[in-house]
Amino acid sequence: MKNSASDADVARVEEYVRREGYEPHTIRGEVRTVVAAVGDEVEHASLESLESLPTVEKVMPVQKGYKLIARDTHPETVNVDVGGVEIGGAGFTVIAGPCAVESQEQMEVVASKVKASGAAILRGGAFKPRTSPYDFQGLQEEGLNILRKTKEKFGIPIVTEVVREGDVEKISAIADMLQIGARNSSNFALLETAADTGKPVLLKRGMAQSVREWLLAAEYLVKRGNRNVVLCERGIRTFESATRNTLDLSAVVLAKQECSLPVFVDPSHAAGRVDLIIPLAKAAVAVGADGLLVEVHPCPEEARSDPGQQLNPDQFNDLMRAIKPYIDLAK
Ligand code: PEP
Ligand code: MN
Repeated sequence: MKNSASDADVARVEEYVRREGYEPHTIRGEVRTVVAAVGDEVEHASLESLESLPTVEKVMPVQKGYKLIARDTHPETVNVDVGGVEIGGAGFTVIAGPCAVESQEQMEVVASKVKASGAAILRGGAFKPRTSPYDFQGLQEEGLNILRKTKEKFGIPIVTEVVREGDVEKISAIADMLQIGARNSSNFALLETAADTGKPVLLKRGMAQSVREWLLAAEYLVKRGNRNVVLCERGIRTFESATRNTLDLSAVVLAKQECSLPVFVDPSHAAGRVDLIIPLAKAAVAVGADGLLVEVHPCPEEARSDPGQQLNPDQFNDLMRAIKPYIDLAK
């Protein structure tokens, strides 16, 4: 309450708090009075509108709003099964593959190479969210077919992006995991549609999304009854122009502390350049990430999207060898 609040003003706030389903506990200090509203903020209405009263100084929520995923209430990290591959357990999981699915041959070369180097899950976008409408939008249905055939041939689970609600059903018929990209991580209708398939969801952090907003987006998924959610930090937009984005490793640590979902790092979209990917991958392991998402193309200079950041298969093999001692150390 403001200093000027009278007993009648306090009583009015107590009454309001009670009406909204909370129990008011009023603390009268020497100068100020604080009305504590005891109750579950997630289940009851927000009390923020009290701030419109001239005698109320400030309304301070104490709960975080993501109670279904909060580490406080679920201390154990959630294990997510992606087509038989476990994410979030004791191991470290690497997802690799091209930015976009471009041809059957491209996917087969990449699948055999990344699998041999130790990747557990294959990625590749059939539907691409591109910044320009004139850029390659992905092979779409044809891309899905290529993913299906590649999965059958190599027996490796597939993650691919969903961009539109209307495509979720056909994509989930083939994918083992649905990726929600940075541009869609606040598209709540898409999040709910993806969650309702029951498939695991890889939720990228939006490029201007705070950690709290990112976790609340994950809460949207889990609230639909789908706990199979993996977070993925992929860099945020800052003033720095030497890299495509700024990899926020603090967010990885914070997300791990705050919630019980596994957290991945995507150094490819974070850096946007090949020479930083291995050092950033080591850093990701060191801060406690559960896995990596890395773009790999058989011939990066010919890639139809994100050519400057995709590793070739040899570079990817180097990455896997380079992170191995860090993984052993982190155990
Ligand atoms: C991608 O993974 O190819 C992609 C588009 O990523 P992001 O949504 O992080 O930009
Ligand atoms: Mn990409």
